[in-house]
Amino acid sequence: MTFQKFISIKENEALSCGKEDSAVILLLEHITGFETNELYLKMNDEINNDLIDEFNKIFEKYLKNNEPIQYLIGFSCFYGRDFIVNENVLIPRFETEELVENILYRYDDYFKGKVIDVCDLATGSGNIAITLAKEEPNMRVVATDISKEALEVAKQNNKRFDANVKFFEGDMLSPLGDMKFDIFVSNPPYIPDDEEVDSLVKDNEPNIALFGGNDGMKFYRIILSGVKKHLKKRAIIAFEHGYDKKNEMEKLIKEFFPKASYECIKDLEGKDRMTFIYVGDF
Ligand code: GLN
Repeated sequence: MTFQKFISIKENEALSCGKEDSAVILLLEHITGFETNELYLKMNDEINNDLIDEFNKIFEKYLKNNEPIQYLIGFSCFYGRDFIVNENVLIPRFETEELVENILYRYDDYFKGKVIDVCDLATGSGNIAITLAKEEPNMRVVATDISKEALEVAKQNNKRFDANVKFFEGDMLSPLGDMKFDIFVSNPPYIPDDEEVDSLVKDNEPNIALFGGNDGMKFYRIILSGVKKHLKKRAIIAFEHGYDKKNEMEKLIKEFFPKASYECIKDLEGKDRMTFIYVGDF
């Protein structure tokens, strides 16, 4: 059987079980070690039986259990790197790659060539912090998370990618002492507590990484109310947030940083997904 035929059979199997067909390619890439483009070049090659067996072992679990494919594989791709993930960390999302990309652009616009200090709050698997440190060696990156278990995963990823992010255990800003930063970034838990969430997400991903209080704004409030003393003279605060939170973000900014300029940025789906706040002289 060719790869192509095998993939199409398995995708149909997934769909008929009410599962995501995209899991097939993710799993096959993981097992073969091929990148997406390599896999496409192999489409007409024969797939060997050992590979099929190995694939099926994980795939059956995926079809039977209500578990994300990324946890079954143990990895999730973020900005071109395979991050270790398990049930103690949020599975990185595509939108968050855009947050990272936008920060890298702003670095070029406002700090180019300068060594700067960056802090990622609620780092989870360390995906944001580590990606920034790898993509922009002029960023000295620190990250915090309240979960010891999550930090263990983040530290493994830090080693895996030979990054030099420093991790601190504690809620949001609380472990930062008198440290000051040029850029703060956070993709904090932002789903309102009573929002209906798909059981694949809710029953698998750590709920402390998902839910952000009654209105989903709890952690932005906590961060904005305490961040001032950790900001250098000219600093950027970059948030990912719910697509319907543009106005509420604006209100919070007016409350805590009335003089700052800010911009809301849309994600690739055209949703209001990020807000960047510029404090000081920009
Ligand atoms: N920083 C991680 C991410 O963006 C985890 C965020 C979280 O736990 N809410 O994927």
